[in-house]
Amino acid sequence: MYDLAILGGGPAGYTAAAKALKHGMNVVIFEGDNIGGVCLNAGCIPTKTLLYGSKIYRHSTEAAKYGVNASDVNYDYNAMLKRKERVIRRLVAGVKQQIKGATMVSGTARVANYREHITTIVCNDEHYEARNLLIATGSVNASPKLEGITSEHVVDSTAALNMSRVPKNAVIIGGGVIGMEFAQLWSNLGSKVTIVEALPTILANFDEDISNYISQTFSKRGVKIMTSTRVESITGQGVMTSAGEISGDTVLVCTGRRPNMTGTEILNLPLTGKGISVDSHMRTALPGVYAAGDVTGLSMLAHSAERQAAVAVNDMMGIEDEMRYNAIPAVVYCDPEIAAVGLTERQAKEILGENNYNIETLPMLFSGRFVAENDGEQGLCKVITDKHGIIIGTHMVGNPASEIIAIAVMAIGQGMTTEQLSRIILPHPTVGEILKHF
Ligand SMILES: Cc1cc2nc3c(=O)[nH]c(=O)nc-3n(C[C@H](O)[C@H](O)[C@H](O)COP(=O)(O)OP(=O)(O)OC[C@H]3O[C@@H](n4cnc5c(N)ncnc54)[C@H](O)[C@@H]3O)c2cc1C
Repeated sequence: MYDLAILGGGPAGYTAAAKALKHGMNVVIFEGDNIGGVCLNAGCIPTKTLLYGSKIYRHSTEAAKYGVNASDVNYDYNAMLKRKERVIRRLVAGVKQQIKGATMVSGTARVANYREHITTIVCNDEHYEARNLLIATGSVNASPKLEGITSEHVVDSTAALNMSRVPKNAVIIGGGVIGMEFAQLWSNLGSKVTIVEALPTILANFDEDISNYISQTFSKRGVKIMTSTRVESITGQGVMTSAGEISGDTVLVCTGRRPNMTGTEILNLPLTGKGISVDSHMRTALPGVYAAGDVTGLSMLAHSAERQAAVAVNDMMGIEDEMRYNAIPAVVYCDPEIAAVGLTERQAKEILGENNYNIETLPMLFSGRFVAENDGEQGLCKVITDKHGIIIGTHMVGNPASEIIAIAVMAIGQGMTTEQLSRIILPHPTVGEILKHF
């Protein structure tokens, strides 16, 4: 009998396993594909590895701005793909090391029985029993029902990461985070890219000032963005949209992901519209059965999955803890980077009412380091406070927003005012210093 059985070896699953082992629990973890889940094998890590190579290439072609003559710059995509595989292998090995001590079972598992708080799981014809179950089965690409969607030139993000060539002419359906990152990757490497987005703006979940900024940057660099445009079908040459046909040798579908509940069917767990229903301790409706990560659909990000898993294990151990969603950062690794945490201006208006919040926006040019390193770029940092001066939202575009957003995450998490934040001494010159100007 195990103390904890985990379905899925992605960020939620492996975090739970590592934490449970530290508490001395006896753990079994099932993974049907690759340890590391989508994040390490087909998501966060491979995208960022390829993006980094493409960024070095593009920056090299623009090196003259910084007084560097780099003539005849070119790239080897095959070498970039090989490096991506090396990075994945290294990180997967690290995760396996972290969960050494757990029984790792390779295969797709399913819950076969649940009685008196004990779950029985079957995998490769073997039976396993556990006092606690964590469902960490993640999510899968959700494809729209479009005529021609199974055509050879249509790919999802997983297939796109494994393509042996860079498309000459790509159409990306969906201007969300994943679509924007692929647009950045391929356009950096010379592709002609068109993004087709049904909503009136790209990155619709981000603050409007940020999505407008990046939209203009992409357009200046030659990426075509078609908003309020619906794809009606896939054609032999590309896609047919509400605004006419767009040609492309590759069509990437980035229209979202849906929770993967494979293997949990017998439990008949109550669902929300987004995934498995859980409380703030990550408990499902069945005692001893928890869910964490993308399968809950609450915040489809690796760092949320990890935190949710930690909350679930703490609950199993009787340690007081709770999942909160007000200070979860979101990053888009385009160039310049975008990072955000907390409420957008629109949300502040809806939740607090017109006169109950303040907005201040500064260009990143307020930071000396930003000016030194980002020729021709303005950047933007927008801080939203409530009427007591407490920071409730921060939105940034400018490098390295992905790193410096951590300051705002902590400020929001701790309920700090801008005055309290300005009293913290940050190193100079750094881009993060911008936050002391609010
Ligand atoms: C292209 C792309 C880029 C992304 N970039 C980022 C990013 O930069 N930052 C970020 O925070 N997030 C990013 N994400 C999202 C991130 O990958 C997910 O939020 C994260 O992986 C969710 O972790 P998880 O543990 O819930 O599930 P997953 O990582 O999906 O892992 C679930 C695992 O469970 C296994 N499994 C499922 N059912 C069973 C079963 N019955 N038996 C055994 N095993 C099973 C699956 O094989 C899978 O390995 C990206 C996603 C994509 C697709």
